[in-house]
Amino acid sequence: MPLLDTLGRPLNSLRISVTDRCNIRCRYCMPEDDYVWLPRSSILSFEEIDRLVGIFTRLGVTKLRLTGGEPLLRQNLDRLVSMLSRRPEVKDLALTTNGILLGRYAASLKEAGLGRVTVSLDTLREERFRQLTRSGRHREVVEGIERARAAGFSKIKLNAVVIRGFNDDELCDLLEFGRERGLEVRFIEYMDVGGATRWSLQDVVSKKEILDILSRRYGRIEPVVEAGTAPAPADRFALADGTVFGVIASTTQPFCRSCDRSRLTADGMWFLCLYAEEGVDLRDLVRSGAEDQEIARRIKEAWRARADRGAERRLELTERKALYPLEALRADPHREMHTRGG
Ligand code: SAM
Ligand code: SF4
Ligand code: SF4
Repeated sequence: MPLLDTLGRPLNSLRISVTDRCNIRCRYCMPEDDYVWLPRSSILSFEEIDRLVGIFTRLGVTKLRLTGGEPLLRQNLDRLVSMLSRRPEVKDLALTTNGILLGRYAASLKEAGLGRVTVSLDTLREERFRQLTRSGRHREVVEGIERARAAGFSKIKLNAVVIRGFNDDELCDLLEFGRERGLEVRFIEYMDVGGATRWSLQDVVSKKEILDILSRRYGRIEPVVEAGTAPAPADRFALADGTVFGVIASTTQPFCRSCDRSRLTADGMWFLCLYAEEGVDLRDLVRSGAEDQEIARRIKEAWRARADRGAERRLELTERKALYPLEALRADPHREMHTRGG
């Protein structure tokens, strides 16, 4: 029997943040000058992560995504990848990265058994990238994508957060960039997650607007209907020439009803929703000598009680502004998107 929450949603997909650090400062995620970091001693070792994954997979998890912060900042990540890829229950092992270090690590990650890569890239213009991320390493991202292709990764995805007045004039360029390289582009609505302290509803470009912009250039856009596949956050569409892309409407049409995702932070807090106030402290259990059975019991108990539908609840608000003020983020860095793992 699958483990179900109060809304009948199975425990299936686990996002594992391997570090809260990042080498760039995207304005929709880490816009501030200073951050409170997780203490190094609290960061889970690869062995601790692998042990937790073993317990999660016995409870139904089949999909893993390594994230962060920037996951490629974690030393020897390929060692973790090879530990996780050896587990037969893991059917999908993916990585989300900003791509800066991808050129350096793509081949070793592929060899270690990484299945899929998603690269986040919101602009093709170097100057804009600098404004958006406070980094001049745009070229390394583009090279990283090429190296990942050369290393044999197929079905690479490109995530682009769309922000009004900032990159909403680049949707077609991003799509072309993806088309030329065989990447599936996914446009993401700007979300009011923790960390997005400059968020405002006016800056959100909705799925509808994204489709309107694209259809003005490409004409008819058809939804891609996938029979028999698991529910996915991205709605997929095809242009007349067959180019497929996705839109993740997390802000205007959230997919909480079918959400089978949870998140493990680098220091072992398990969050059952991106917007959840509280998490379950699995590090404490692991380090206090709890048996696997005891940890499994805590996970089951928490999942069975899960009623979260954070993004839908945000939609119900009449007045909407940033989720947390800066002081609240400083008081608990677990509220940050870069800690919780996007
Ligand atoms: N550093 C890696 C990266 O950027 O790909 C992995 C972690 S990042 C938190 C994961 C994803 O979250 C990225 O694709 C990023 O664009 C997305 N993200 C961060 N803040 C967001 C926001 N306010 N709205 C929508 N997506 C956001
Ligand atoms: Fe950008 Fe990802 Fe770093 Fe956040 S964690 S600042 S989205 S690269
Ligand atoms: Fe899942 Fe929470 Fe996101 Fe809704 S807001 S899709 S429940 S993680």
